[in-house]
Amino acid sequence: MIDYRSDTVTQPSDAMREAMMAAPLGDDVFGDDPTVNALEEKAAGLFGKEAALFCPSGTMTNQIAIKVHTKPGDEVVCDQLAHIYNYEGGGIAFNSGCSVRLLSGDRGMFTAKMVRDNINHDDPHFPHTSLVSIENTCNKGGGVIWDAAEAERIGQVCRENGLKYHLDGARLFNALVETGQSTEAAGQPFDSISICMSKGLGCPVGSLLIGRKDFIHQARRVRKVFGGGMRQAGLLAGAAIYALDHHVDRLKEDHQRARALAGIFEQQSWVRSVVPVETNIVVVELEDASQQDRVLEKLKEAGILAVRFGKGKIRFVTHLGITDDDLSQTESGMKMVM
Ligand SMILES: *Cc1c(COP(=O)(O)O)cnc(C)c1O
Repeated sequence: MIDYRSDTVTQPSDAMREAMMAAPLGDDVFGDDPTVNALEEKAAGLFGKEAALFCPSGTMTNQIAIKVHTKPGDEVVCDQLAHIYNYEGGGIAFNSGCSVRLLSGDRGMFTAKMVRDNINHDDPHFPHTSLVSIENTCNKGGGVIWDAAEAERIGQVCRENGLKYHLDGARLFNALVETGQSTEAAGQPFDSISICMSKGLGCPVGSLLIGRKDFIHQARRVRKVFGGGMRQAGLLAGAAIYALDHHVDRLKEDHQRARALAGIFEQQSWVRSVVPVETNIVVVELEDASQQDRVLEKLKEAGILAVRFGKGKIRFVTHLGITDDDLSQTESGMKMVM
């Protein structure tokens, strides 16, 4: 099977497994795991921040950030396509007791003006706006890359209005290898940054939350409350250090293959359009939305796995498990689809 369902389906390479097995371990809840400590220091340094926290998932890093940045009854501003709103099980309400102001941006990307227009005045009728979150790249937007200048302007609005600013950077490295922006510059506007090791970077488990020392101190408490305190987690942190050293630049290959894949799909009669590819996500809009299940079934018969992505759309994601051979096989498999 050629598995385009997500960049989370990757298996750790032999070299990554070796790095995991060689990692010195300790009990991280006591702060004793040298590999976790090294990873957290490395991640903080990369983004020009003081500290970082290793967590089991990107959902947890996002939800911890929201919890630390808000009080119950506050309001969080994000796009209607945001992962924190759509794909985290209602966690903003469940964990933090906050309401959400959804913005209707362009493929998940909104403007500083939209943020300014959606900050509630200090009036007891309104929830207190306390946090803005952006997602780069935006998954539901089709792996699109934020304009760095707009992200900075939103940071300016946040500072002027006393709001915290969070980056859901589950696929941030996919954006940075395309734009060439440095990690330090990318992190500069934000109070907190979440990055995932288990997506395109190819680790089995893990995400990092990055920010100031006092923020991470509070985040560590919340991680424990959420049940995310891990013990000999250096086994996983070893994979993450390996990935940061060896799997960032190669993301460009995933993007090239995604563009090639889009080219293949554009030729197919069952495809109405392909959302322009910016990184490793290819979203195909079907000619006939009612054929979604049938197309997925036919793809599967041709040895190709993908996922439904809203009405009449199918998502394909490239990752380090996808080779040029897989692309050729995908192309020849197309005649079996329709
Ligand atoms: C995958 C993802 C997350 C976190 O997901 P986990 O599966 O909980 O690690 C967060 N934000 C975005 C945009 C994602 O794609």
